[in-house]
Amino acid sequence: MKTKPIILKLGGSVITHKEKPLTINNGAIRRLAYEISQANVSPLVIVHGGGSFGHPIAKAYRINEGFKDSSQMMGFSKTHQAMTKLNAMVLDALISHNIPAVAVQPSSFIITKSDRIKTIDNKVVKKLIETGFVPVLYGDAVLDSDKGFAILSGDQLVSSLATQLAAECIIVGVDVDGLYTSDPKKDKTAKLIQHITLQELKKIQHEVKEATATVTDVTGGMLGKISELIPAVEAGISVLIVNALKPDNVYKTLKGQEVVGTLIE
Ligand code: ADP
Repeated sequence: MKTKPIILKLGGSVITHKEKPLTINNGAIRRLAYEISQANVSPLVIVHGGGSFGHPIAKAYRINEGFKDSSQMMGFSKTHQAMTKLNAMVLDALISHNIPAVAVQPSSFIITKSDRIKTIDNKVVKKLIETGFVPVLYGDAVLDSDKGFAILSGDQLVSSLATQLAAECIIVGVDVDGLYTSDPKKDKTAKLIQHITLQELKKIQHEVKEATATVTDVTGGMLGKISELIPAVEAGISVLIVNALKPDNVYKTLKGQEVVGTLIE
């Protein structure tokens, strides 16, 4: 590959209304497609989350617990179907802004083992990038060699792709300004951490695991996110977490301009 790709993650909290099942944030998707087209960076890979599409169905059928009984099979199909529907809407927006986006279905080339990516065949993604396309992937219900099936998060996928494709950087768009000292939605005194090193991040992850008193209280989606991103940062790939609900943030970040957010390196 000639130049290193940028991996852009669009969080489920950005492209859907998380509290309302199967509801997209159409305004945000269209604006982001416009910003991505204006930034015009190449090579680019986009990965999006599931938000209110994949998660409620996966939860109802306990897909993350693996294959326990045949009643879950329709849940696997429906989770995947919901993600392909959300993906189609993201693709509509990107293509209508003249971005040569091509959907790539993660469950067709990835198998996990106890929830972790075990088999991944990136040949098609690499070839798409080399040809000048923008591959668009997503968190998906996938087959798992131990559990039967599993949920592959967009964040694990981002980290794995970034490492394998030797990405330039990872941009993570969420619905808050970055990594805070505690959940900013619950704690008004939470402070934004604008810069954090790999060592500091590992320390936070360790403290959370040990459940000791921490200076930084990372919970929920953000904890999973930073845990997944650690291997990519270890491989020398910097991560920028920005608020993708704020207009121009994704455009500016793609262009390498300064934006309020968290830089992990
Ligand atoms: P997405 O679905 O966009 O990938 P998530 O909802 O999984 O994002 O994760 C982002 C959420 O994590 C934020 O909306 C915020 O409420 C929550 N969160 C918990 N702890 C923190 C923290 N320390 N800093 C920032 N966000 C946090």
